[in-house]
Amino acid sequence: MSADDLLFTSGARAIARSVNRRERSAADIAEAVRVALPERDRDLGAYLTLTPDLMRQHARRVDERIAAGETLPLAGVPVAIKDNMCLRGTRTTCGSKMLENWIAPYTATAVGRLLAAGALPIGKTNMDEFAMGSSCENSALRTTRNPYDFDRVPGGSSGGSAAAVGAELATLALGSDTGGSIREPAAFCNVVGFKPTYGRVSRYGLIAFASSLDQIGPFARTVEDAALAYDAIAGYDPLDATSLNAPNEPTADALRTDLRGMRVGIVKEFGTADLGPAIHAAYAQAYADLAALGAELVEVELPTAKYGLATYYLIAPAECSSNLARFDGVRYGLRVDGADVGEMYEKTRAAGFGDEVKRRILIGTYALSSGYYDAYYVKAQKARTAIADDFKRAFARCDLIASPAASTPAFTFNAKSDPVAMYLMDYYTIPVSLAGLPALSVPCGAVVPEDGTRPMPLGLQLAAPLFSERLLLGAAHAYERATQHALKLPRPQIAKAP
Ligand code: GLN
Repeated sequence: MSADDLLFTSGARAIARSVNRRERSAADIAEAVRVALPERDRDLGAYLTLTPDLMRQHARRVDERIAAGETLPLAGVPVAIKDNMCLRGTRTTCGSKMLENWIAPYTATAVGRLLAAGALPIGKTNMDEFAMGSSCENSALRTTRNPYDFDRVPGGSSGGSAAAVGAELATLALGSDTGGSIREPAAFCNVVGFKPTYGRVSRYGLIAFASSLDQIGPFARTVEDAALAYDAIAGYDPLDATSLNAPNEPTADALRTDLRGMRVGIVKEFGTADLGPAIHAAYAQAYADLAALGAELVEVELPTAKYGLATYYLIAPAECSSNLARFDGVRYGLRVDGADVGEMYEKTRAAGFGDEVKRRILIGTYALSSGYYDAYYVKAQKARTAIADDFKRAFARCDLIASPAASTPAFTFNAKSDPVAMYLMDYYTIPVSLAGLPALSVPCGAVVPEDGTRPMPLGLQLAAPLFSERLLLGAAHAYERATQHALKLPRPQIAKAP
């Protein structure tokens, strides 16, 4: 293996250690990534924009800071950023024709913090348009493939970030999760994906989809690296009104090696028998592995979780219809001229948005309109509270809740033409999002899908009470260390067969 191959397979902690010790310069790393990336990503399609100049500038700055005696937690670590987060001077598209050529005038807080910790920005990753989707197929700009089977989707909406980390084209990546968009693609791409408690990571500079749910979080190949990335980006930010103003507890020092003394809830309503015998067996094994690490398994009930999807598909479109009103041809991105301003709005929005975004704007506008507001939007808010209360009751009996992260492994392109079939992918993640809880997906095995030939990864979702990131990452590390499922699959694919 060459030094550059090692760079792509190494973890964040190892890279930062060698750069902090000045065994390798950040400038060297930036150069190796710059040379290798375009070719490595040609068939996979994880990135929409590469930022080699910016990466080089940051590398120089990191080397200067280390020469001046600083130690940086992510020194020289190459990172990928989902393309709904602003990076000053760089195209930020949201996977949409609307913003295809829009240049961000400022940098998102989470991105800025990651770079200040020494990370090097490789580029911006593909996503479902405005983060609406579960496969990346709603991107208006590029197709991203699953590194474990090029005929399959990487998941979504943060599919580019998950594929980049899974295919070893980035050490870490940032994604955003509204209803599952970090956890589901992480499960599909054999990586760890972590959605923190709502409010832990600033949303400043994250282009809004559904503001009461959106949360930024990291992708990594190990729980430890996810914890390092989270520690760098978390914490109060006065620029985000929903940012949690509380001391931030670091997590990277909370990693455990067993689960003794912990109670893990298995949700009665989340049985896996319907998912097919192979998947059912994989999750039964995952729960048994948690018990073997010392956890006590307890059955918990979430009787209102079954209303999660219906609730989410009122609240998220309602918020999206309001948030996306700003894309009207006046200030941001695309403008299609018309005879008057009304026609300009219409033509711009008709040309700029894809079908799924239009569907959500229509549903959301309907749910918020007078006469329907109480019947739909207010009702959904009440259901949301009931779901959050269910979780509170469940967490009186357990410390963590375990479930599948997604309803199936990665599926083939065009397999889910019915929108509801796509929405069902997030059955297990959406209730957790509605309750604002921290949750992650960690690799927990693989199955060969009925219509496939290669083993495809599965993810175990672990969810924790509000603000329990230390507990959650600590426990996930113990499970990962004992099972090492991510390493059992064949090496990921980065090029089409010749
Ligand atoms: N798949 C869900 C949706 O389409 C969740 C997306 C997300 O978390 N951004 O809304």
